[in-house]
Amino acid sequence: MEMRRVSILGSTGSIGESALDVVRAAGGRLGVAALAAGSNWRRLAAQAREFRPQLVTAADDAAARELGRELAGTGIRVAAGASGLEQVATHAAADVVLSAIVGAAGILPTLAAARAGKTIALANKESLVAAGGVITAAVRDAGGLLLPVDSEHNALFQLLSGRDRSEVRRLVLTASGGPSFRRPGGLDDVTPEDALRHPSWSMGAKVSIDSATLMNKGLEVIEAHWLFGVPLERIAVVIHPQSIVHGAIEMTDGALLAHLSPPDMRIPIAAALYHPQRETLPWQHLDLATLDRLEFFPPDHARFPALELAYAAFARGGTAPAVLNAANEVAVQAFLDRRLRFTAITEVVADVLAHGTVDAASPDIDTIMAADAAAREAATAVIRGMQAPRRG
Ligand code: NAD
Ligand code: MG
Repeated sequence: MEMRRVSILGSTGSIGESALDVVRAAGGRLGVAALAAGSNWRRLAAQAREFRPQLVTAADDAAARELGRELAGTGIRVAAGASGLEQVATHAAADVVLSAIVGAAGILPTLAAARAGKTIALANKESLVAAGGVITAAVRDAGGLLLPVDSEHNALFQLLSGRDRSEVRRLVLTASGGPSFRRPGGLDDVTPEDALRHPSWSMGAKVSIDSATLMNKGLEVIEAHWLFGVPLERIAVVIHPQSIVHGAIEMTDGALLAHLSPPDMRIPIAAALYHPQRETLPWQHLDLATLDRLEFFPPDHARFPALELAYAAFARGGTAPAVLNAANEVAVQAFLDRRLRFTAITEVVADVLAHGTVDAASPDIDTIMAADAAAREAATAVIRGMQAPRRG
């Protein structure tokens, strides 16, 4: 196999670092074309020295200046901001673009990669939630390819490939249930520390909180719709605390085909980066005989209302999923900053969806980004209102 070069959007994050681990283990079969990250220029500089990309980019000019000083004399080009992200997303040397920035900041770079006809290994689910119609159309028009990295979707992608879709009745996504799944009583006093302590996966802060509220699964159901073209009523969610079964497809004859692996993101990342090949990986394999138990439960919608909120936003269509996503990002940040109770995260999202305006079907990218910005303002106002001392 010739060397395949990867551009990584979000290289200093949990997914980005796991992807670089996959590159390290590739023995020259994978290389790095370009790297993009936010403000952690020290980590980015260290990655650049190790992997020798042609281009690195940081979120702002200040970080890019530091990066430039660190990398002086290496011949590695340094860029910044939105233009830098676009250059990394469309870099001529990249055979695959790993989209692994967290949140709506990933939308425009992912769209740029799609418009450039790139093969996209997609971790940034938020871009499909907010702009799934625009991005999938761009991938189609430019002749690119969208490969899911999200573990459940990568599992479904593997289960579905080469299969006659008329034989598939339903897609099943598993959810760990998060750290509060077995917690007795109400969830009002769940702290950021509680919510960040994920039982089976080690992930970035935002997706960890989304897992704890179950919003992550709501976003993933919408993501699955855009990836596989399946209507939401045929996408089911089941709680599975061990995170060993990642996805399953229910066949028309009553058979259920499931995908199992250790909860290690390097496995789906490698599956996407090497696609359509499957390479030998040095990490832990699954031994069924040593698995203690695999449990499955229906989701508890009363305790975790975020999942149904996501289904409802998708049913409303237009910019509603973009509004859901943006309001959730603001609320999750407020929770992490201790300005918001755990259960209020979903209340804020519901409030913004109920009172904000939602644009009609098939919005273009400018309409989506405007809806994202308006929803952030609305969510900020709702949170401020919740904090205001009650008067008379
Ligand atoms: P993370 O917070 O660990 O990393 C985010 C990365 O994005 C960092 O490199 C950060 O510097 C960069 N970034 C953030 N804002 C940026 C901006 N404005 N411009 C440029 N770079 C920016 O997040 P993560 O856990 O790696 O998750 C990344 C994406 O992958 C998310 O969409 C998440 O939902 C998805 N995902 C993650 C996991 C996981 O196991 N971590 C699993 C499935 C899907
Ligand atoms: Mg997932």
